[in-house]
Amino acid sequence: MSGDFFSEEHNMFRRTLRKMLEKEAYPYFEEWERKREVPRAFWSKLGEQGYLCPMVSETYSGLGLDFGYSMILAEELERVGAGLASGIVLHSDIVIPYIEQYGTEEQKKRWLPKSITGEFISAIAMTEPGAGSDLAGIQTTAYLEGDFYILNGEKTFITNGINADFVVVVCKTNPNVNPSHRGISLIVVEKDTPGFKRGKKLNKIGMHSSDTGELIFEDAKVPAENLLGEEGKGFYYLMDKLQQERLLVAIEVQVEAEEMFRITKEYVKSRKAFNRSIADFQNTQFKLAEMATEIDIGRNYIIH
Ligand SMILES: Cc1cc2nc3c(=O)[nH]c(=O)nc-3n(C[C@H](O)[C@H](O)[C@H](O)COP(=O)(O)OP(=O)(O)OC[C@H]3O[C@@H](n4cnc5c(N)ncnc54)[C@H](O)[C@@H]3O)c2cc1C
Repeated sequence: MSGDFFSEEHNMFRRTLRKMLEKEAYPYFEEWERKREVPRAFWSKLGEQGYLCPMVSETYSGLGLDFGYSMILAEELERVGAGLASGIVLHSDIVIPYIEQYGTEEQKKRWLPKSITGEFISAIAMTEPGAGSDLAGIQTTAYLEGDFYILNGEKTFITNGINADFVVVVCKTNPNVNPSHRGISLIVVEKDTPGFKRGKKLNKIGMHSSDTGELIFEDAKVPAENLLGEEGKGFYYLMDKLQQERLLVAIEVQVEAEEMFRITKEYVKSRKAFNRSIADFQNTQFKLAEMATEIDIGRNYIIH
């Protein structure tokens, strides 16, 4: 449950957060899953109490906390139900770090404070119908025309895609350069941009309340000042920031495994077959011991 890096302040933060979630999230999670969305009012409650974007510096109205707090948020949100952390953590600790590290002063002042209060929800659009793992193979393009970039392409599987107020879009500003990753840039597309449309909200096998959608850019006209960092450096920025994304996803799925194990243990103790609880059969015990070992390995890898 904890690494040595958690201080008493971290533990207090976890207790207060858990109390808040017991009141504001646990009673409603099943309803959110049925309705297939986390209400914006919940984002606002998180924002009001300082639970969004905990690492953003005080200069931009943040709390300037360390990664331990982000880890606690990912763990406690995910413990409410599978997928609750996904959109919130993606906003706080995956998208916002691009703005804070690579944004200009003007961009940071425009997007960070409202992302901390929950007024803005953000997304990052890398994946396309024809390009996932092979990120350098994306087809979305952006070319400069006067003071605007003109964006064309499609994105899919985008977390917060349907509700996002702004999206960091990975696109090719130079589709002819070799190797192709040198032509990739990050451009922030805001919700009312002409030519920017939302596609389908996607059905998944689980994590129903987490918003996963398609985005369409048809000659979308984006102010040139929305370029994040330098043109052609986008792939390098992604390679830097995807490390934190992978770690946070690992933390979320670790919590899911731990919760499933807890539920399974309760079940095998209460379920009776052949006049015994199924936990009494040695095969069940072997299986549980194997699962407990693998889950423990996962936890230790994350801590280290
Ligand atoms: C719930 C959810 C949320 C998501 N949120 C976002 C988001 O917010 N933003 C975003 O941009 N994307 C998002 N994604 C997309 C995700 O990043 C992609 O699904 C992922 O990058 C894999 O791409 P793909 O699905 O196209 O699979 P592919 O890349 O087509 O892979 C298909 C299979 O081939 C295997 N494979 C691929 N390359 C190799 C190789 N070199 N060697 C061996 N095997 C290989 C893969 O492991 C996989 O099993 C999300 C996906 C999901 C499911």
